Amino acid sequence: MKLNDNLNLKGNYKIFANVSKEIKEYKDTHKDNKVISLGIGDTSMPISKNIISSMKKACDDLGNIETFYGYGGSNGYDFLREKIWEEEYKKFGISKEEVYVASGTKTDSTSILELFDINSKICITNPMYPIYRDGALCLNRSVSILDIDEKDNFICNIPKEKYDIIYICSPSNPTGIAYTKDDLSKWIKYANQNNSVIIFDNVYDYFITSKDVPFSIYEVEGAKECAIELKSFSKKASFTGVRCSYYVIPEEICEGINTLWKKRNINRYNGADYIAQKGAYAFYDKESQKEIKEHMNYYKENAKLLRECFLKNGFKVYGGIDSPYLWIKINNGMDSWEMFRYFLNNIEVVIVPGVVFGSKGDEFFRVSSLGSRENTKEAIERIDKFYEK
Ligand code: PLP
Repeated sequence: MKLNDNLNLKGNYKIFANVSKEIKEYKDTHKDNKVISLGIGDTSMPISKNIISSMKKACDDLGNIETFYGYGGSNGYDFLREKIWEEEYKKFGISKEEVYVASGTKTDSTSILELFDINSKICITNPMYPIYRDGALCLNRSVSILDIDEKDNFICNIPKEKYDIIYICSPSNPTGIAYTKDDLSKWIKYANQNNSVIIFDNVYDYFITSKDVPFSIYEVEGAKECAIELKSFSKKASFTGVRCSYYVIPEEICEGINTLWKKRNINRYNGADYIAQKGAYAFYDKESQKEIKEHMNYYKENAKLLRECFLKNGFKVYGGIDSPYLWIKINNGMDSWEMFRYFLNNIEVVIVPGVVFGSKGDEFFRVSSLGSRENTKEAIERIDKFYEK
């Protein structure tokens, strides 16, 4: 017996776990103090009441012989695939069979690599959502890294080399920046010229406010020939605990790609759970949409308050407009771990050190607007007071 050494993620990555460990150590030694997290990627709003009713009804369905549902198929229940298709993808000429439902984009973003040859040249950006890199390494894939710069507003430049698989996260975690249609057009042209595939992680679609940022990559010409779009109910519908995601694999990428992927799914996966999928179905109801838009506005107001606070206190701030994340440049010569400890020790506010998203993040830290208004305001008061001195 020999264990799978790929899971050890060779290299010295400064992972999220280290952040949690330091916060826990601080809390254990300051038991009476209130530490406020601006670091969280989790949501603070509850799930919409209409979605909850749908999930309760789904529970009742399962307890009744007439309405009981069992295995739903490895690509998702038809009722939800069809709903997502009708609401989001039919208008782009995508077929129902190209839409899949699963249990989270974290898993989808790297399991999709199983569709491609093991020697495919994969590229990710630095900084990036670290799961693309670590998930690929666990699957024994090697990845190339493209640095993204502040001077380019954190939009990745088109490389000279050819890559087979390109990860783009927009709106981005961590930089909070979103690719415009023009930015994506350039990447789509590159991908189509090089026979590459873009894995487009669009889990923050409901946070988009800028008019030139597409809600789906398929709004951009040529995307159906090269892009796999990943979306999730996690952030927009507070499904971080419920777990339901979806993605699209257009057949235009390569004839037979869907047949092959369905073969994979049949052998590797039995689908997301019925209750979650019934909840996701109700996401598209008018009542749910109304409540969800209110939640999005709530987070956007948090983001606005946070932006104002950091700008006022002399920081350069990116993001927070099309994304729940603000990406803030460190202005006192510290690296991002030092800055994380500086905030924790002096004002008991948690920020995420940018280096956990890659070495290029070390001059930045990430702040999230997904917390409660009360905590956001209290954190802002502490920051204002600290920098007033
Ligand atoms: N993709 C990005 C860019 C994320 O930031 C996250 C969560 O933070 C995910 C995917 C995970 O989504 P899910 O909850 O659907 O697994």
